[in-house]
Amino acid sequence: MAKEKGSNREALIQKIGEELLREARNAEKSVESSHRWEIKLLEWCMSNDELKTQIFRFIDVFPSLKSDREVVQHIKEYFPSDGMRLPKEIRIGLALTRTALLTAPILSKSSEFLYKRMAKFFIGAGSIEEAIQKTEELENRGVMTSIDLLGELTTSDAEAGAYEAEYRKLFKALGARKKGPLYQNVSLKLSALDPNFDPIDPNGTQSRVFKRLIPLIEAAALEQIFVYIDMEHFAFRDLTLRLIRNLFEARPDFISSMGIVLQAYLADARQTADSVLNWAGHLSHPLTIRLVRGAYWDTEIMKAEELGWPIPVFLNKAETDQAYEELAELFLAAFPKIRLAVGTHNIRSVAHAMAYIETEGRDKNTVEFQLLYGLGAPLEAAIRARGYSLRLYTPVGDPLPGMAYLVRRLLENVSQQSFLRQSFWESASAEQLLKAPSKTNTVKSLQTPSDEVKFKNEPALDFSREDVRLSFEHALKKMRAEFGQKIPLFINGKEKNTAGYGLSLNPAHASQVVAEFACADKVDAEAAVRAADEAFPEWSHTDAKERAGLLRKAADILRHRRFELAALEVFEVGKPWREADGDVCEAIDYLEYYAAEAVKFFEKHPTEKLIHESNFTRPESRGVSAVIAPWNFPLAIITGMSAAALASGNTVILKPAEQSILMGWQLLRTYREAGFPQGTVNFLSGSGAELGPVLVEHPRVALIAFTGSREVGLEIIKRAASAVERSGCVKKVISEMGGKNAIVIDASADFDQSIPAVLESAFGYSGQKCSAASRLILLESIARPFLKRLCEAAASFIVGDPTHPGSHMGPLIDSDATKRLRLAYEEAKKTGTVFYRGDVHTLEEQGYFVPPTIAGNLPLHSPLLSKELFGPFLTVSIVRSFDEALKMANQSEYALTGGVFSRTPSHIDKAAKHFAVGNLYINRKITGAIVRRQPFGGYKLSGGGSKAGGEDYLREFVFMRTITENRMRHGFSPLQT
Ligand code: NAD
Repeated sequence: MAKEKGSNREALIQKIGEELLREARNAEKSVESSHRWEIKLLEWCMSNDELKTQIFRFIDVFPSLKSDREVVQHIKEYFPSDGMRLPKEIRIGLALTRTALLTAPILSKSSEFLYKRMAKFFIGAGSIEEAIQKTEELENRGVMTSIDLLGELTTSDAEAGAYEAEYRKLFKALGARKKGPLYQNVSLKLSALDPNFDPIDPNGTQSRVFKRLIPLIEAAALEQIFVYIDMEHFAFRDLTLRLIRNLFEARPDFISSMGIVLQAYLADARQTADSVLNWAGHLSHPLTIRLVRGAYWDTEIMKAEELGWPIPVFLNKAETDQAYEELAELFLAAFPKIRLAVGTHNIRSVAHAMAYIETEGRDKNTVEFQLLYGLGAPLEAAIRARGYSLRLYTPVGDPLPGMAYLVRRLLENVSQQSFLRQSFWESASAEQLLKAPSKTNTVKSLQTPSDEVKFKNEPALDFSREDVRLSFEHALKKMRAEFGQKIPLFINGKEKNTAGYGLSLNPAHASQVVAEFACADKVDAEAAVRAADEAFPEWSHTDAKERAGLLRKAADILRHRRFELAALEVFEVGKPWREADGDVCEAIDYLEYYAAEAVKFFEKHPTEKLIHESNFTRPESRGVSAVIAPWNFPLAIITGMSAAALASGNTVILKPAEQSILMGWQLLRTYREAGFPQGTVNFLSGSGAELGPVLVEHPRVALIAFTGSREVGLEIIKRAASAVERSGCVKKVISEMGGKNAIVIDASADFDQSIPAVLESAFGYSGQKCSAASRLILLESIARPFLKRLCEAAASFIVGDPTHPGSHMGPLIDSDATKRLRLAYEEAKKTGTVFYRGDVHTLEEQGYFVPPTIAGNLPLHSPLLSKELFGPFLTVSIVRSFDEALKMANQSEYALTGGVFSRTPSHIDKAAKHFAVGNLYINRKITGAIVRRQPFGGYKLSGGGSKAGGEDYLREFVFMRTITENRMRHGFSPLQT
């Protein structure tokens, strides 16, 4: 019976589909005549992929171009070759047929004209007033709307407030039309209501979002307007659903005024649908669901690749199609508990939903079809002709800030996956288009390392998952209960206590002792060197694979303890959750990466082959290595330096910074547990000023791997050089030091992209990263609006106790740091202008907190522009040209990291060539280098040019020996193998 019903339904899907397609293709002809240019332009876009990308990029940059000259420059840079010339029809339309007419103003005005035409095709109206007119116009054709107000990315509370205010205006305007319940409809995005919308902190996000959302829904309900909460990126999905559930629980009266959106392209869409159904079963009113395919397909894939996370979307179109039908059927069957809006342009999916309704004998009014404004035109008439209600999702707003939206729509429109592309602009057959979708194999991950490169970065924790958040909270609790443990020294395989103990404090609560640590003296340092020296011969002759095996074991131990380790970092050095987790991942990466590299590196390296002579180089371990580490990446850096030393056959003395002894001890514990032989790894805690010189000058210490401040780094280099004769070898010093890093924002930069990135680079981990941005260089033409938006966004940057998941920024490391930063503020007030200073008064009483600060108008020689402050302090300089910006960026004794935000290709090229830094980041934040992907380290007075996490790093830890053998004996030589 069921089978029969199924085959009947399939026959009906085909029949309805063919009818819809016929009507749509007819309608398309008339659409084409009214939008000939737009269609032509889209066809042109689709003609080749390179062109398509350039067009999208040009559309994206266009709103930022201020003058005719700029427009022309960008046209030339984006479309340099003849192959990218505009199609003839459009050129004719633009009166561009004769090149003689191509003066800058004409070309510029023509592009603007074209741009606006395109925007009009996709964006329903420019203002709320126009939106009402457009709505009326559409209603006269029997089509309803769901209005979506376009806007910039919300980077500040002020912007969230403006977004809310616009919606209120819209509700009023729509309400005045008195259309009755459910008829009028809007769509809104929760992330636009809160600049800190973040799944890591669902409770904080909820209370901020609700403050705006509840009054908004009340206002909508008052005007009898129905609100769909749009679904955004996958990372926001669970949080969005959770917020809506909680809201319905608190306000059951909202259920009839609000609906949700679900995306069928998500691989776990079915599980979500089941849980939504279960929930809806308990609601007092029907739940309204708009089922869509999803509009972030490319972004989801790119994000997953970057983070090493599973790809959340189906990779094959057929799977999405199949999921769409499955979910549509599920929801349709759940009527009246569920009211479904079918949001798709796929004729097969539309026909499928209609066939269901018709075979089940259901009233056609129990379902609604929704299409996108502009793109839906050909299907409109076809759907309505079958007696169904139709609504157009209609973006409204200024086309300039609406660009992000527009480009996304364009992308979807021309993407390979898009049904529209096949159905209208290319003439696929009805049979092909209406074929029932069937499952094919899915590719689960893009990271498919070849056998040769086994290394894979450790994926960061996904804090959008509740189990992950709970584990983190649990680890914090557990580690807090272990406060006060005593850390001994570890020399020659034995723990050793000392008479005096130092304290490791929680910088967020300076009265809390996280751990007590033994304080080594010179005698202990001597003993540690002796132990490492004795262990060296055997360790250096141990097979590289065996050494690598131990490092991998250590990586596994860290992996296993990652939550606890990250929790300890939160307490010992004040890192917010994500930063702490990132540090643990980096430590794991170093162990795995150097293990993998060392196995290759410790093979023979043939140089030049002669018939009779073999030539090769082979690395030779150096000896005892003193690993002197900073506190700011308290696990990763000490692990990186020691793992490279150990992988290269050197023995090690770990000397963590005084502020992060507990984390250093965690590494020692890990090496012990992994089974490193006695004496290969030793651990000294205590004063760097006392122990450092002993280690550095010791004749048996062959290598010093140091990361820390410039003062100490340079002192180490000098001391090591002065101890050469006594040591009988030229000591190797790997010295990675500080930075005074600049970010340049040019006139074409995308503010939505650059503002969060600048804040993250400058204030992430309270600016206590060597890579942090401390100088911002702005092009004059955008300086004012940029600074205004930046300062507003800074005001929304959450400073708080790092144990709280919502804190973006925690404390500084100690009281010396707070003093330094307070003095900097005084200096800025005295000699320049403070543009922004946060308020951390209540926090200052309990720990080492200082507010984030943005200051400018400083004299050129100001120490604030040249000295590393190592805190949340950003200087601003304004320049007239991009060349001047680069010159200023390079005016530093440091050369560690730098950044450029620009959508001008020639500027990007210039920066790549002339921005003198070890790590240059273009159009992204300048912190967070990833092992292997971005080998890290600077030059000038930032470092010696060794690149941590890169393939050349191990070379720094060995001597290279060259071995030449003459294999000729009296004119006879064996054949070379
Ligand atoms: P720091 O120089 O004060 O201390 C670093 C280490 O050196 C600590 O272990 C300390 O005990 C030890 N030390 C102190 N005096 C010593 C001496 N006289 N001889 C030998 N060792 C001595 O630096 P920090 O405050 O721990 O770290 C912050 C600094 O590190 C910043 O300048 C930052 O830019 C830099 N840093 C650089 C990188 C990089 O990769 N370039 C990475 C992280 C941090």
